[in-house]
Amino acid sequence: MFTINENYLKLPGSYLFSTIAKKVNAYQSGNPEAEILRLGIGDVTQPLAPAIIEALHKAVDEMADQETFRGYAPDLGYEFLRTAIANHDYRNRGCDIAADEIFVSDGAKCDSGNIQEIFGLNNKIAVCDPVYPVYVDTNVMAGRTGNYNPETGSFDGMIYMPCMEENNFVPEFPKETPDIIYLCFPNNPTGATITREQLQEWVDYANRVGAVIIYDAAYEAYITEEDIPHSIYECKDARNCAIELHSFSKNAGFTGVRLGYTVVPKDLKCGDVKLHDLWARRHGTKYNGAPYIVQRAGEAVYSETGKAQLKAQVDYYMRNASVIYEGLKNAGYSVSGGINAPYVWLKTPDHMSSWDFFDKLLHEANVVGTPGSGFGAHGEGYFRLSAFGTYENTVKAVERIAKM
Ligand SMILES: *Cc1c(COP(=O)(O)O)cnc(C)c1O
Repeated sequence: MFTINENYLKLPGSYLFSTIAKKVNAYQSGNPEAEILRLGIGDVTQPLAPAIIEALHKAVDEMADQETFRGYAPDLGYEFLRTAIANHDYRNRGCDIAADEIFVSDGAKCDSGNIQEIFGLNNKIAVCDPVYPVYVDTNVMAGRTGNYNPETGSFDGMIYMPCMEENNFVPEFPKETPDIIYLCFPNNPTGATITREQLQEWVDYANRVGAVIIYDAAYEAYITEEDIPHSIYECKDARNCAIELHSFSKNAGFTGVRLGYTVVPKDLKCGDVKLHDLWARRHGTKYNGAPYIVQRAGEAVYSETGKAQLKAQVDYYMRNASVIYEGLKNAGYSVSGGINAPYVWLKTPDHMSSWDFFDKLLHEANVVGTPGSGFGAHGEGYFRLSAFGTYENTVKAVERIAKM
């Protein structure tokens, strides 16, 4: 008789966004005339930029022709895309990353979940709290944690690094030494960033204790300030301790198109074993590559026209972020984020719980946001609003919240 992976049973029931959907649907059926504005989920809303659409059409036509048809893609991704990534995301920023250290994939969510496969099960994992839930749940599934403790809202055996107002939402080195550290900056959900100096301290720490940093740079394109690093490889010696994850979802609207990449430098070793070789093996064995058509679309992200169009798209969302940030601040809320990230993180008024504030916002303003407690115990008392809506809806939502 078969058995199951019992680690899955450690995961607590209802997923954040399904709970939100249930509450919103219940409210809407009781109030069919209410116009509900959604500043909750982290999905983009603007259509793909014309340069991307043009590249997609062209690649589709190539697939229709015997001469230019392509089958399986090369294991690590097409050379044209990996070279464009190495040049634009790394070399141009002074980072020493070569095209053959880049692994093209169908997105950063899968990579952030899959990457832990190349590490031993006895590694101690450290995550920020609040956190993008994928880092935690995938390690739970693998068996790297104990049980969920409903009292503390956390898993036994996992190192949580509180990110709060007091530390500007940047974690401090944990008391217990971790083996694998997940960092995501600009951060989802807090919208916080880390300075280059602070990130350098983390790189030095990881090299000192022999830990690996998995650095999620999904929101890199939203950085507006100068001293904020776009890549962990801007830090000295990061090639010895860091893996970096990238996504085309938030900078180019590929949430439904699917494309991402992971960087594993060849200097990153455990004894004599290169992590690059393990990830190459994993990639080659379990994955057959992102579609040719999509990789051509990815190449267009780095063209001059593509870059200009995507900058306008990011600026559009960042104008929303500023409307939310300024609007709530003027209404007396304590807000952070929103300057280098498409998320505004606000403190609930009068020590209200995150879910109570969710209900209040839904009922009194007909606005949907995301309760901070859904991202971890230290998100309690906070609330995330996303800048990915339309400008018109964002303005309307903020006016309604301010009047509450
Ligand atoms: C949206 C997001 C991603 C991107 O995931 P994709 O699978 O590339 O769409 C990765 N990390 C974080 C923290 C995110 O919020």
